[in-house]
Amino acid sequence: MAIELPRFDTRDIVGVIGAGTMGMGIAEVAASAGHHVRVFDAVEGAAVHALDELATRLDSRVKRGRITSERRDEILGRIQVVHKLVGLAKSRLVLEAVVESLGIKVGLFKSLERIVAKTTIIGTNTSSFSITEIGADLKHPERFLGVHFFNPASVMPLVEVITGMNTAPEVAAAVHGLMSTWGKSPVFAKSQPGFIVNRVARPYYAEALTLLQEGAASVSTMDAIYRDCGGFRMGPFELMDLIGMDVNLTVTQSVFESYYGDPRYRPSVLQEEMVAARRLGRKTGEGFYRYTPEPEVSDPVDMRPAKAPSSVRVFGNLGPAETLVEQSVEAGLEVTHAEGEGYLLVDGVYLALSDGRSAVTRAVEEGRSPMVLFDLALDYRKTPRIVIAATNGDNQSLNVAAGFFQSLGKVVNVVLDVPGMLVMRSVCLLVNEAASAIAHHVCSAGDLDIAMKKGVNYPKGPVEWGESLDLHRVMAVVAHMHEAYGDDRYRVTPLLARRALAHRKLSD
Ligand code: NAD
Repeated sequence: MAIELPRFDTRDIVGVIGAGTMGMGIAEVAASAGHHVRVFDAVEGAAVHALDELATRLDSRVKRGRITSERRDEILGRIQVVHKLVGLAKSRLVLEAVVESLGIKVGLFKSLERIVAKTTIIGTNTSSFSITEIGADLKHPERFLGVHFFNPASVMPLVEVITGMNTAPEVAAAVHGLMSTWGKSPVFAKSQPGFIVNRVARPYYAEALTLLQEGAASVSTMDAIYRDCGGFRMGPFELMDLIGMDVNLTVTQSVFESYYGDPRYRPSVLQEEMVAARRLGRKTGEGFYRYTPEPEVSDPVDMRPAKAPSSVRVFGNLGPAETLVEQSVEAGLEVTHAEGEGYLLVDGVYLALSDGRSAVTRAVEEGRSPMVLFDLALDYRKTPRIVIAATNGDNQSLNVAAGFFQSLGKVVNVVLDVPGMLVMRSVCLLVNEAASAIAHHVCSAGDLDIAMKKGVNYPKGPVEWGESLDLHRVMAVVAHMHEAYGDDRYRVTPLLARRALAHRKLSD
């Protein structure tokens, strides 16, 4: 069917199917934007109950002075519960947020198509199913698309507007425009497993789980490192506890299976054990942390004060960590310079930014010993914390390195000598995954960065982050990890290699 460019305005009725967490959030967003909203839920009384709960939440916002009581009345006055699907007949746009079951969703859309006009746009909030597959049996699949909100829908700005193979581009463009008028940050995505966020974010969880299995550091220490050094809003373990271990594992399994067992998405046996033990996170009172009800977080294990160094020699340029040189001068240390490939010599100890190899490998390959590595930080001036690792946990060298970073005002944590350390490996693998998503035309480089910043609060989009680190460095880190682990999970994705070798950007 040729489809006219749909234009929405606030007179258009929005239908919502499913009055659960997501459905009610979407209803609130649409009503707040000025639409009349009709909500249907299959369970008798569920939608009325959900509307009461929304009223309570809005009341509390009125009490806290966030919105006026007139605004609350306005929003609630626009939402009407309907008791049959046919109550959605006059909707211009229907957004579905029922349970994640392919059979239920497909059946529902077949019934819906018999009720609504041919031009009604139908969107699903599915997190894992193919938009092409859900829409395949519809009479008019061209008006069907994914409209993926993030939880809580009223707060999270990102909406992935996902086209299946049969979705008309005009429909996606119109919904994208509508989401902007709703105050959201929409991005276009193609229907491929995990869409953008649920695919690109996989390494953030997977690497943390691998590091925990290897005993790189304690959970609290690692979360503090990701927050303070990486600039992530939440560390991976506290985030998994919030999302729910079972939900996180299901998403990983679904992406892994959809890609026919690609090792990049292989689930963690540790996470499977956590799910088997019902340690699902906040919702069961225990995950990586215990909740009583606040998380029992132990302090990160910080190094004790060590002696300030007497000399610092800088060899070449430290790349992303170059500001450490300036900070050393400001701290009153005696700094001298020499030619070299970007490392420091502090009181006889070599100090270098992680390049994906362990300290021991690097000491042997470069013939520089003793060797202490430090991890990536989003901003070496602002970070309150620096992470170091040494060959065989060599205490003497670690103390020299700690004394140096402490004299710059940093708290220092020691981690096991694992390839790629923590932040460096996670960020480089996020960039590697981002390159794969771009290569597969899931989305543009610009939309990918918006999605990761607005959907999961990353401090920088992976594309921008990779380019600011230099794609060559990113490629080297991933390649070194591939070599160290001998696991194809860490293979360099072809687009990253091509762009790095050609000195081009991922965003070109
Ligand atoms: P939920 O369990 O909170 O709510 C689902 C609602 O759908 C329930 O009220 C249920 O009674 C109703 N329902 C079930 N079958 C129905 C049917 N045939 N017709 C009408 N109503 C029906 O689920 P949720 O967390 O809101 O998730 C809904 C959808 O959104 C799922 O597809 C999920 O994958 C997706 N999603 C969830 C999140 C999240 O964090 N919760 C985030 C993004 C997307």
